[in-house]
Amino acid sequence: MSLRDLPPVDALAAQVDAPRAVALAAARAVLAQRREELLGGAAGDADLGERARDWARAAVAPSLRHVLNATGVIVHTNLGRAPLGREAREAVAQAARGYSNLELDLDSGTRGSRHAHVEALLRELTGAEAALAVNNGAGAALLAAAALAGPGREVVVSRGQLVEIGGGFRVPDVIAQAGARLVEVGTTNRTRLDDYRAALRASGDRVGAILRAHQSNFRQLGFVEDVPVEALCELGVPVIDDVGSGALGRVYDEPPVRRSVAAGAALVCFSGDKLLGGPQAGLLVGRADAVELARRHPLARALRIDKLSLAALEATLRAHRDGGDVPVLAMLEGDGLEARARALAERIAGAELVQAVAKVGGGALPLLELPGPAVALPDPAEALAAALRRGDPPLIGRIEDGRLLLDPRTLADDEVEPAAAAIRAARG
Ligand SMILES: *Cc1c(COP(=O)(O)O)cnc(C)c1O
Repeated sequence: MSLRDLPPVDALAAQVDAPRAVALAAARAVLAQRREELLGGAAGDADLGERARDWARAAVAPSLRHVLNATGVIVHTNLGRAPLGREAREAVAQAARGYSNLELDLDSGTRGSRHAHVEALLRELTGAEAALAVNNGAGAALLAAAALAGPGREVVVSRGQLVEIGGGFRVPDVIAQAGARLVEVGTTNRTRLDDYRAALRASGDRVGAILRAHQSNFRQLGFVEDVPVEALCELGVPVIDDVGSGALGRVYDEPPVRRSVAAGAALVCFSGDKLLGGPQAGLLVGRADAVELARRHPLARALRIDKLSLAALEATLRAHRDGGDVPVLAMLEGDGLEARARALAERIAGAELVQAVAKVGGGALPLLELPGPAVALPDPAEALAAALRRGDPPLIGRIEDGRLLLDPRTLADDEVEPAAAAIRAARG
């Protein structure tokens, strides 16, 4: 093939089944590439039609795609954290379809609050007087600090809680961004009630709040002491308790939201898409006066939650209340795990069932190990993992001891067959 044999753009585009603009762009790109190759001395034939179709397929494929998570990491931040339950998915589809009463009070016909859709549920589920939903957990903590402390005021924090959660969320930075001044008390491993008392005496009425931050993604062992939320709430200063993952019920040793509310915390902050199992969101629940300060703060507008997330959040909260579908909790329990593992192993040639350990992820319960069956594959692990990432849909497993493991804990029942098909396709 020589330069003179290259087909015209139109002729090549005609071989591509895609919108005309895409087909033309594909043809131009492939012809330009082939011209370079020929000028560089390439010989032989090339299937330009096939190349153009590949180019067009890549161009029209969405960037954000459905991925099969066989990592066994339940709240996987890189894979979008919590998968939504059935009711929440339906609620998102409904809210996306047309208009909604997002900020309209249908009884009076006057302007309503978007928070009204979740406030009663959050109060019921946490025992709080009032509640507010914002864009994410980091936003909730920032808003809480800004609303209760802010410029010229102080926020008292134990040195054991000056933590980094990941993704650039560092407690001292959040306080600085809220405009407040950080007052550190105690030491890295031990902070006592008297440390707080001394700081409050020294600061007097400059103190806006005491902030507790959950050590989400690490634990301290040994010579360690901190002050329970109940004791902090008796010091007479508003307490912000950033409990992180948002355990509404008992979820191993995660701090339950209800406990901090019952203790009298002014604001309890947590994420919507960790152990709550809902959409990305940040929740603030607590005393009515504190929630009102947060609601009226200018940051609340900047951090406001969007309607699709709000729809998913309302449905997720209902699912918690009414025993509906919360996949994160079902995966923690290992519901249907054995059956999925067997079904997956049966569908993949050379697969072997092994005992493995899944993790919660998402900065929650870092030490918790969830034992269960997984499917080990005999193929060269790195090469297969790479082929699976390029598949459609992509399948992500985890490599252990040189073998690729598929952990069915984080697959839905109806993802077993697609996962097996992905392996077959990747093996070619
Ligand atoms: C995860 C976490 C955050 C941040 O929440 P996002 O929803 O990820 O923004 C803040 N504080 C704590 C203690 C956390 O665990």
